[in-house]
Amino acid sequence: MAELEFQKAPGRTTELQAEFTNLEVYPDSTVATAGRTYALARSEKGKQLLVKGDETDLRRAGFEGTMIAGRILVGELTPANAAALRKALDYLRPVRSEGRTSIGLGDRLGLATPGHIRAIEGTNLFPYLAQQSIREMARTGRHPQQVMDEALWGIFQTGYTDGFGSDADHLKTPADLADCLRAGFTLFTIDPGDQVDNQADTDAPETLLSKCRGLGAEAPDLNLDRLRKSYLSGKVKLPGGSSLEFSETELLRAAVKYGRAIKHTVMMYQTLKSAAAGRTFELEMSVDETLTPTTVGEHYFVASELARAGVTWVSLAPRFVGRFEKGVDYIGNLDEFRKELIRHRAVARQLGNYKISIHSGSDKFSLYPTIAEVTEGRVHLKTAGTSYLEAVRTIADTNPELYRAIYRFARERYETDRASYHVSAKIDRVPPENALSNGDLEASLDDFHTRQMLHVTFGSVLTARTEDGSYRFRTEFYRTLEAEELEHYRCLAKHLGRHARPFAR
Ligand SMILES: [Zn+2]
Repeated sequence: MAELEFQKAPGRTTELQAEFTNLEVYPDSTVATAGRTYALARSEKGKQLLVKGDETDLRRAGFEGTMIAGRILVGELTPANAAALRKALDYLRPVRSEGRTSIGLGDRLGLATPGHIRAIEGTNLFPYLAQQSIREMARTGRHPQQVMDEALWGIFQTGYTDGFGSDADHLKTPADLADCLRAGFTLFTIDPGDQVDNQADTDAPETLLSKCRGLGAEAPDLNLDRLRKSYLSGKVKLPGGSSLEFSETELLRAAVKYGRAIKHTVMMYQTLKSAAAGRTFELEMSVDETLTPTTVGEHYFVASELARAGVTWVSLAPRFVGRFEKGVDYIGNLDEFRKELIRHRAVARQLGNYKISIHSGSDKFSLYPTIAEVTEGRVHLKTAGTSYLEAVRTIADTNPELYRAIYRFARERYETDRASYHVSAKIDRVPPENALSNGDLEASLDDFHTRQMLHVTFGSVLTARTEDGSYRFRTEFYRTLEAEELEHYRCLAKHLGRHARPFAR
């Protein structure tokens, strides 16, 4: 007898559960096909994969683990088991969105997928369940394959079979592409933000002219004569009755601001296409992290030039007017946002009916009805950090001492960690931890300043170590969420459900 006992367990819910008393099968994960039965189970040693079948067949398929009584394999959630499972069950392989209304559900911890799946229930939205930027991976010490595998285990656990995508977000260099392609990502979000010339917004006309000549020398496709011919020959009619017209200065400004970004995106697209070697993929272009908003004319210019260069894409993320800060609602004029969005949508309709992608899309509750209406479903809403905050909420609820320790640490880290994020929280508006009673802890997660403080410090929290080299918070953080997984899923389903429902189709 191996370490796992064979007995009829009372209240068994699945065939495999009947075989074990010392682990708990997730009933929805159970699936029988092609002579094998699969399930995910929870045990004291962590989650385990169970596969019932012929040992030779299972080994040949790449499954690893211990055989119990020669007919049930019990294995850890290893990359090899994820790969074998992905091969065996087609609903665990990411697919393309094919233009469907979609929501990106970034999961920095690798534990959120079951909660995310519950959040989109009944909405008919296409979810990107694996989604992480290279920057966030660096900050959390994760790899593209791990991001994919953790989403797979979450999907397997819930038995969700309606299809999901995987978004390699904010890719900046060709080196970023290779790892994500190998891991099986299906959507590649190219962020040429570093190539955007933010100075162009305030450059004098003669500076723009000389910069534009320099650009033409560097990228012959963008030479001034051709640009003038393409953009200054009259009004561009847009669907919905509006139109667009460039002045010479507006054209120069658009070309200078985005010329190198366009060139970079074309290069990334071509690199991706040849590396993909016939495998299909989707592309998003994002310029949401630039200093100033993308005007509608600039959007038109960028999209026209990409199309001209043969790039195809499914979504484009402009930088919108107003402030899309992390973890909080929109800060800006709703009417102005709506007017701009109507025109961005008209450009998108004109140039391929691609989706408008809303980055830093979490918690923008005041905008969702407008976005859903104006885009007519041609929209991708991208969220990430807000799910981390729901994990922290779960901790505030179930492990107050850990929450207090993270809160104190985040308060010290905020001024440093905020540097690369759009946030405006003031640390002196965040009460010191010892001013909060235990009853206040969960509510503190609804406070603007506290949310942003916790949002931008996630990388520091997850990677901080004590003097002996062990993790300061990470181990206990994960242990708490694993022990309290139902509460974690409940928080996620509630909060992300509020994001998904306004976009329900
Ligand atoms: Zn973004």
